[in-house]
Amino acid sequence: MSKTLLIKNARVVVTMDEQRREINDGAIFVRGNVIEQVGPTSALPQTADEVINAAGHVVIPGLVNTHHHMYQSLTRVIPAAQNGELFNWLTNLYPIWSNLDAEMVHVSTLTAMSELILSGCTTSSDHLYIYPNGCKLDDSIEAAAKIGMRFHAARGSMSVGQSKGGLPPDCVVEDEQAILKDTQRLIETYHDAGRHAMQRIVVAPCSPFSVSRDLMKEAAALARSHGVSLHTHLAENLNDIAYSREKFNMTPAEYAEDCGWVGHDVWHAHCVQLDDAGIYMFAKTGTGVAHCPCSNMRLASGIAPIRKMVDAGVPVGLGVDGSASNDGAHMLGEARQAMLLQRVGFGPDAMTARQALELATLGGAKVLNRDDIGALKPGMSADIAMFKLDQVGFAGALHDPVAALVFCTPANVDVSIINGKVVVKDGMLQTIDLPLVLERHNQLAARLAHASR
Ligand SMILES: [Zn+2]
Repeated sequence: MSKTLLIKNARVVVTMDEQRREINDGAIFVRGNVIEQVGPTSALPQTADEVINAAGHVVIPGLVNTHHHMYQSLTRVIPAAQNGELFNWLTNLYPIWSNLDAEMVHVSTLTAMSELILSGCTTSSDHLYIYPNGCKLDDSIEAAAKIGMRFHAARGSMSVGQSKGGLPPDCVVEDEQAILKDTQRLIETYHDAGRHAMQRIVVAPCSPFSVSRDLMKEAAALARSHGVSLHTHLAENLNDIAYSREKFNMTPAEYAEDCGWVGHDVWHAHCVQLDDAGIYMFAKTGTGVAHCPCSNMRLASGIAPIRKMVDAGVPVGLGVDGSASNDGAHMLGEARQAMLLQRVGFGPDAMTARQALELATLGGAKVLNRDDIGALKPGMSADIAMFKLDQVGFAGALHDPVAALVFCTPANVDVSIINGKVVVKDGMLQTIDLPLVLERHNQLAARLAHASR
């Protein structure tokens, strides 16, 4: 019989179930890695193998991060890339990233996942698209298994270098047949299609301006022959639109459709400049969007029309994006910025705190094509984040602790449970020695910044 876990006496449990119930004095009973019961503390079993007293806590479904480049944690606030738009930012960073190695990928993934988990995130995707000096996606998959995070590892790629009219320097692009072969190897080695899977592989050429049309089409065929998802960057800013018009004589959405990159098994990062026809087509086909408000603001890409997308029926999740274009990767913070940025663009009623929280949970689950995460209800994976309310940032907001999570200063978790396992306790990661990881991370980051000069 699997081990049982009881969380009880919660100030409020935010279920994200069909009725969006928020249960005061709530409890959750978990068996193994699956939630068995959710309800008032008085209605649930009174004991279990492990009992967590959640008095004074808000308990939410673990947040889902749908877009990241974890290796970029090594290259935060690089001076030459602090103040440019996307293409300028990228061309300043590509030469630095060309010095990445396998240990850097592993350690930066541990660092980035630590930051995410402490901010309430329990499932993340990561889009690794640069593989110099023997780096492999396996390096980040191993890190995810070590820390215990639910992981959608996206095998990114770049194949069109500057000499062929692309943006990246030739030294960081790969051969297209080698990309497809390695992607297939990763799917066959790691992809778990089952419910409650901790590891999934995603096929993810980096962007229309760094791979060929052939690779986009072959990637889609490969993904569909294995039943895995597709992910890339799309319509991020006006230069991105101009490139698409000039190269393909199409909008990014038309190009995606032409390459077979639409459907419930596809999600695109950013889509800041997605036009109305694109929004309608995404809604009709169930194509998902990873909204990354901090990155969009940092690179001055614009305000993605998220209210319009959600109203049209487009699946939308949130993404912190890489740590070189959102130098703080806090999932609750991202939900807060999503709410605030929609208001800047479209008025004070464009997004509520609860809607932002829904994008960060159910929205992310849908975008990743999963029905087993994003809500606290029977049969769902036991991914649970608990926030303590007795901290200064929540003072005066306890009459609505759920809204407080999004409106107030982003808090870190007190307890995090992923796949039924307690990964954070008393605000401390239990699976890795974080200070040791950070020390090594900072040594490697210094080496990278120095090598680039
Ligand atoms: Zn990105």
